[in-house]
Amino acid sequence: MDWDQLLEEAIHYLQEYLRIDTVNPPGNEVEGAKFFKNIFDAESIPCQVFEPSPGRGSLLATLKGTSKKRPLLLLNHMDVVPVEKGRWTVDPFEGIVQDGYLYGRGALDDKSMGIIEMMALLILQRRKVPLERDVLFFAAADEETGGKWGIQWAMENVSSLMESEYALNEGGYVILNETGDPDRYEISNGQKIVFQLQLKAKGTSGHASMPHADNPNVKLIHALESLTKWETSFNILPMVKEFFSKIAHKQLSEERQFFEDIEKGLSNPSFSARLTSNPIYNAMVRDTISLTILQAGSKANVIPSESTATLDCRLIPGSSKENFLTEIKKRLGDEIEVEGKMEGKSIPPSPFNTDLFQAIQKFATLNDPDCPVVPFLLPGATDSRFLRKRGITTYDFCPFRLPEKEILRVHGNDERIALENLRFGMRMLVEMIKEVAT
Ligand SMILES: [Zn+2]
Repeated sequence: MDWDQLLEEAIHYLQEYLRIDTVNPPGNEVEGAKFFKNIFDAESIPCQVFEPSPGRGSLLATLKGTSKKRPLLLLNHMDVVPVEKGRWTVDPFEGIVQDGYLYGRGALDDKSMGIIEMMALLILQRRKVPLERDVLFFAAADEETGGKWGIQWAMENVSSLMESEYALNEGGYVILNETGDPDRYEISNGQKIVFQLQLKAKGTSGHASMPHADNPNVKLIHALESLTKWETSFNILPMVKEFFSKIAHKQLSEERQFFEDIEKGLSNPSFSARLTSNPIYNAMVRDTISLTILQAGSKANVIPSESTATLDCRLIPGSSKENFLTEIKKRLGDEIEVEGKMEGKSIPPSPFNTDLFQAIQKFATLNDPDCPVVPFLLPGATDSRFLRKRGITTYDFCPFRLPEKEILRVHGNDERIALENLRFGMRMLVEMIKEVAT
């Protein structure tokens, strides 16, 4: 396999793809779907574009196998989030290469994943690798605003997708430590449940020169103060326990015992404070609440009659929404109205005793022998929830090696991917697919 040549090809395709504006809203992902269609057509890989709403296109490509086993789905999304204009050091839609990195909105989330998945199909097709299962490639629209016109629509309307046994989607990474060495393979097999609430305080409007006790802004901030101080209790899933125990040997010697049994560890107040100061770890061990929107008043000398706040809460799968809501209301007091805005469903994590997991483990053992492969509870939400709901074993894992600080560029400014990651990602995907499909 000429990996240098394949890397050149992948870089070229990713540059072209980053130049296609698929900022959602409005998305216009059909342009991305046409981009993929041209390439798959030229390589004689059957594919189909779906456009359930004007401009909101998705694409399915199929590499046929003997159907001895059920399909493996490689999922990615084509839409990207908007950019903060003037805050990037390069044009986010030019596909610029600089110092070994390719920059652009979508360079990590999630256009690079789309390109390496496409390249994996091209490589297997060109080398005529015999497959025992179909390998499906699905480039979805609308991930960033909920999936309605993308994977959600497809899971109800495209039958071959529903037959998948396994799916691979964005999410975890191969995490590098501070010295740049691989630390762990994070495979996300479950995610937190979205639960968004709208709060409302009502009061009496009036002239600001005569303050009174019925000011909704004052009521709201007092209620929020007590709520935001709430430290929700710990709720450790078995997969989260396993995550911490598997990374225990990498910790400072005095902390190892706490990581080995995280439930016990968290009962130590100083360790618990240190661990939960890491926002990712904190999100894995409890339900969380973020105050995201405050809307109150519009004129400096007017007391408004109403003010509102939005809370974005993320619950551990299996947590009781009712109990959580009762606790929230208790802290807000009687004067605040609480209304549900959006709620996700609690879906159990995908199992780890599978061929696909074995394939990832095998690759990790051969290439990074000192690296544990760990289950990871994703704090955010991805399209995978629609697949797990249908019983498809889904792992959120991008085969890229990244230090944690690079991950912070996802949705941020100067999003970029190291070019070498495209080589690593293609290699890993091809080896994994061969392992589970041949
Ligand atoms: Zn994404």
